[in-house]
Amino acid sequence: MASYDAVVIGTGIIGSFTALHLADAGLKLLVVDRHGLASGTSRASDGNLLISDKSPGVLFDLTVESFRHWDAMIAALGNHCEYDKKGATLATMDPGRRAKLLAHVEEHARHGVRAELLAPADVRRIEPALHPEVAAVGWWPDERQVQPMLACYQVARHLQARGVSYRFDDELLAIEPSPQGVMLRFGSAPDVACGRVVLCAGVWTPSLLKPLGIDLPILPRKGQIAVIERSDLPVRTKIADFAYNDLVEEIDPSDTRAQTATIVERTKSGTILCGSSRQFVGLDTGVDAAVLSRIVRDCLRFVPGLAGLRVIRGYAGLRPCTPDGLPVIGPVDAHERIYVATGHEGTGHGLAGVTGAMVAAMLTGKGHALAKACDPKRLLQ
Ligand SMILES: Cc1cc2nc3c(=O)[nH]c(=O)nc-3n(C[C@H](O)[C@H](O)[C@H](O)COP(=O)(O)OP(=O)(O)OC[C@H]3O[C@@H](n4cnc5c(N)ncnc54)[C@H](O)[C@@H]3O)c2cc1C
Repeated sequence: MASYDAVVIGTGIIGSFTALHLADAGLKLLVVDRHGLASGTSRASDGNLLISDKSPGVLFDLTVESFRHWDAMIAALGNHCEYDKKGATLATMDPGRRAKLLAHVEEHARHGVRAELLAPADVRRIEPALHPEVAAVGWWPDERQVQPMLACYQVARHLQARGVSYRFDDELLAIEPSPQGVMLRFGSAPDVACGRVVLCAGVWTPSLLKPLGIDLPILPRKGQIAVIERSDLPVRTKIADFAYNDLVEEIDPSDTRAQTATIVERTKSGTILCGSSRQFVGLDTGVDAAVLSRIVRDCLRFVPGLAGLRVIRGYAGLRPCTPDGLPVIGPVDAHERIYVATGHEGTGHGLAGVTGAMVAAMLTGKGHALAKACDPKRLLQ
């Protein structure tokens, strides 16, 4: 029977960075996905790596560290995933929110993040697509964008070349932990023994733990994106409605209505992504045309040049959301053989680097300064 130091379940952005850091730490690894590479939420999202949507605190500190790991990954492996420090603009059409946006900018600047409130002439220079009557615009020049699937492919190619085993189209069905290690039972391939298993299975993680009596509260938070046809519309930054920040923080699973807030960004291929929505409707990934229309209507308020362009498709994904908005990274069983790394909600790409580093630190006995805040035990009964 095959035996590994660790098995990573899931090849989305979190599984990819976790595998990368565990391999760098020298562990013998197997990486498994029940479908193809990055076939879950990481394939159905935007690719913004953002700090502008966070206030100082745990998520902020995680993001600062995570950006360093993203930069290090690109420096080591090259840029084959459209990694781009294009910057982000946070805008409001409401003059009454100007002071709040200014306070947000100043708070970031005090915490060492480059951010400023733009003068009108600079708005036109930096983001000509924005509505001329926008009330205030904050500018974060170091915000990054990436194509998440390409990032997962890049990491997988690199690890496979280093001899790490990947197994696709094989579903993990059962986990049997013991003081000595873990036995993993799969749908179509032989059982695997390992020292530890790391579940990076996104919104599907709870179903793997339930048979063990572990109730991890990860709530699927659906999000939709409208893809706009290629055009010359000069969208240079990631444009977001400042109200987006409030929407991310409001977590009320009993409310099943779709909430929307504007995000507009151009991809390298020339299409424009308009997002996004947030909705608690279980594991449904169907595209709702009414929600897509609302998203596009919201985006038109900020970027009037979108009028006349066609929506060519829409897609939906499921953000893994925790009740307190923080990820869960760490062991969940009594023997400390089963680790989870999930619950990143709408910031999984941004936090992938620090998540991988934290898991590797834990599995090699080093610990991590932010591990306590991400400890899954805070949410387990
Ligand atoms: C509309 C939308 C926009 C978003 N925009 C952004 C953004 O701009 N920036 C950002 O940082 N984040 C964004 N997010 C959030 C981000 O996409 C997620 O946080 C991230 O993709 C989660 O990655 P993951 O690896 O944890 O999960 P996933 O990508 O879902 O990966 C889980 C993997 O586990 C596999 N799996 C599940 N069960 C099993 C099993 N039993 N056996 C084997 N394999 C299994 C699945 O097949 C899947 O490949 C967005 C999300 C949505 C929906």
